[in-house]
Amino acid sequence: MNTNPQQQAPDGEMLRPRSLYDATGAQLAEVLAGEPAYRVKQLWAGMYEQCKPLEDITTLSAPLRKRLSDELPTSLLLVRESVSDKGDTVKFLWQLADGNHPIETVLMHYADRATVCVSTQAGCAMACGFCATGQAGFTRHLTAGEIIEQVVRASQRAKGMDRRVSNVVYMGMGEPLANEEPVWESIVRLHEDVGLSARHLTVSTVGIIPGINRLASRPLPVNLAVSLHAANDNLRDALVPINRRYPIKALMEACNGFLESKNRRLTFEWALIDGVNDRPSDAIELAQICRSFRVPAHVNLIPLNPTPGYEVRGSSRNQVQAFCDQLVGMGANATIRRNRGTDIAAACGQLAAGQPVQISRSK
Ligand code: SAH
Repeated sequence: MNTNPQQQAPDGEMLRPRSLYDATGAQLAEVLAGEPAYRVKQLWAGMYEQCKPLEDITTLSAPLRKRLSDELPTSLLLVRESVSDKGDTVKFLWQLADGNHPIETVLMHYADRATVCVSTQAGCAMACGFCATGQAGFTRHLTAGEIIEQVVRASQRAKGMDRRVSNVVYMGMGEPLANEEPVWESIVRLHEDVGLSARHLTVSTVGIIPGINRLASRPLPVNLAVSLHAANDNLRDALVPINRRYPIKALMEACNGFLESKNRRLTFEWALIDGVNDRPSDAIELAQICRSFRVPAHVNLIPLNPTPGYEVRGSSRNQVQAFCDQLVGMGANATIRRNRGTDIAAACGQLAAGQPVQISRSK
């Protein structure tokens, strides 16, 4: 049970949690004061082991559930659910309880697993021009509870379809390593409270080096994905602005450090943009980088999904295949990611939670 000391004020008094899923066991016990101790265990098991909404945890009486929901409300109000790929992809648009902050979560069913893609921030400050979230700008960080609630709520939806969520990818709205502590706390709690294997959790970053270094020194062996998109600094500076602060060579050293200490998988995300980063020279540079690691990095090729603020198209199907073949021919490990949810704007880089994005001319 979560007893995170961070939620303690300096004088030892407990800070009020922001929501039901932000509450520690001790904080839930406080709300249930006067009840037998096993009530907290029943509540905890209902919320996390059985993944039930509070109203369905009928081991607790109706008045108790009411007290809990009054004192510790949930933080995600469902605005809209969109379904595509014959039911295999479900996108949730939520409103955060504290105001007008929309965020999105995507649930994806595959033959062998069900994966939840979570947002870590409302919006994003990284300003990658081809990403709808970046086009919309940053609103606020999410708390650990708000991240966990996305997984729990998506799991409830999966359960209704007789599926069980096994994997979580931190690839929704926001930059996880720009909201490090809540993200790490959510990882620990998904592992300990929800029971997901750390090997089934993947943090995706635009390449924030200090965050990668700290992730490497933390105890749980999660997977790391780096949104690379360009293998030379000139091009990456233009596509991923944070590259000016954390250039490729230093970024690769940090990735290497992560691999050395974690022995986990390193993946590069590469959104293929027509004529921009899908040329033979790009494949050569990328293959060189991949092969520089003890265990070659894996490349996830994603044909660029359309977003309102970026005019250049994604590479054609043939070009994507040719780029993949070229990488593999040079000893890199590459796969083409099946595009999920493009028709409901739930695909990579399309999450903007329905916010208007600025239309700008691409470079
Ligand atoms: N900020 C983190 C987490 C977001 S993950 C990161 O950058 O890794 C979302 C992934 O989708 C990233 O790899 C991102 O670069 C990629 N992406 C963004 N816009 C895209 C688009 N239009 N088409 C395909 N992939 C895109």
